Amino acid sequence: MGKKIAIIGAGISGMSSASLLKENGHDITIYANAFSPNITSNKAAAFWFPYHIRNDKRGINWCRQTYMVYTEMAKRSETGISMRKLIKVQRKGMEDGEPVWIDFMPKGSMRMMHAYELPEDIAIGYEVQVPLIETQIFLPFLQKKLTADGVKFIQQEIKGFTELTNDYDFVINCSALGSRSLCNDTSIISVRGQVALLSPLHDMHLYLDNEKPLYIVPRKDAIIIGGTYEEHVEQEQTEPVTIHRLLNNAYETFPFLKEQKVLGSWAGLRPYRPEVRVEHETETNIIHNYGHGGSGFTLAFGCAAEVAKIVEGL
Ligand SMILES: Cc1cc2nc3c(=O)[nH]c(=O)nc-3n(C[C@H](O)[C@H](O)[C@H](O)COP(=O)(O)OP(=O)(O)OC[C@H]3O[C@@H](n4cnc5c(N)ncnc54)[C@H](O)[C@@H]3O)c2cc1C
Repeated sequence: MGKKIAIIGAGISGMSSASLLKENGHDITIYANAFSPNITSNKAAAFWFPYHIRNDKRGINWCRQTYMVYTEMAKRSETGISMRKLIKVQRKGMEDGEPVWIDFMPKGSMRMMHAYELPEDIAIGYEVQVPLIETQIFLPFLQKKLTADGVKFIQQEIKGFTELTNDYDFVINCSALGSRSLCNDTSIISVRGQVALLSPLHDMHLYLDNEKPLYIVPRKDAIIIGGTYEEHVEQEQTEPVTIHRLLNNAYETFPFLKEQKVLGSWAGLRPYRPEVRVEHETETNIIHNYGHGGSGFTLAFGCAAEVAKIVEGL
């Protein structure tokens, strides 16, 4: 029989969990103090790519499962998800053997590039097929679909789990940085990411150079130029000097981008935890799903499937 389930958080972790739990026939209410577009999930670049994830079987499976879900969704243009070419490079002198992320890639989704395809300063290049999730389209699409399927959304800050645990069979905690106070979890930290926005170009591929550092994500509304990885920074705002540096990094690699208009910039706070927490808290009816850092979209549906598995097993 369907259970009565409360989810705290309306980001990608909360909404992907709601989506799978609803499919299993449960009665879902999402509580959140903020919704799209005013949440971290909207600030993501957001392409599927394992980033700062420990290389264990659990993480690999979550990433792969999520890749498969997005591959299916990409068949429908209204989702805002598309399969795109990503060029991932390693600079000369920075090669460090077989990169960890290769283990996460589904079979047939990547190839090593030939030396003649690469610029002088690049030692190794990979051409990878990845899902691009246009958050400005996908998050409203998902929220609308969940609402149509009967999921209730309530705007409310939850100060403690006891506000919900008596009224629901399960409480799923997808509150990201909110878990610092909800769970007294000091291992979760904020990692700020700043990005710049250029006017859109439709025939460009995604690009990732972690050493420069530079990533380029061409969406329908803008080209996202990233980015920074600033641990323990809590201010959700950009700094002009940093944005200038990010743009110069992009112009150095792709001079034609200088022709694009600068549309603006934004910053978001990644909810980083050394280990993503997806588990049932013993002797309670609480299940946690938080701490996805810079990979929340990459992990989302795998973690949601784990949450659904825990619910069905209890
Ligand atoms: C610049 C940038 C680029 C990124 N690029 C990528 C990328 O390319 N690929 C990728 O996979 N990931 C990327 N990420 C990471 C990704 O954005 C996050 O991992 C993801 O958004 C986390 O989702 P979440 O649902 O866990 O958290 P959030 O989106 O932060 O949602 C948390 C929800 O919980 C609610 N909440 C919190 N506390 C409470 C409370 N006490 N009561 C009620 N509600 C509460 C909030 O209101 C919100 O609704 C990027 C992040 C940034 C900042």
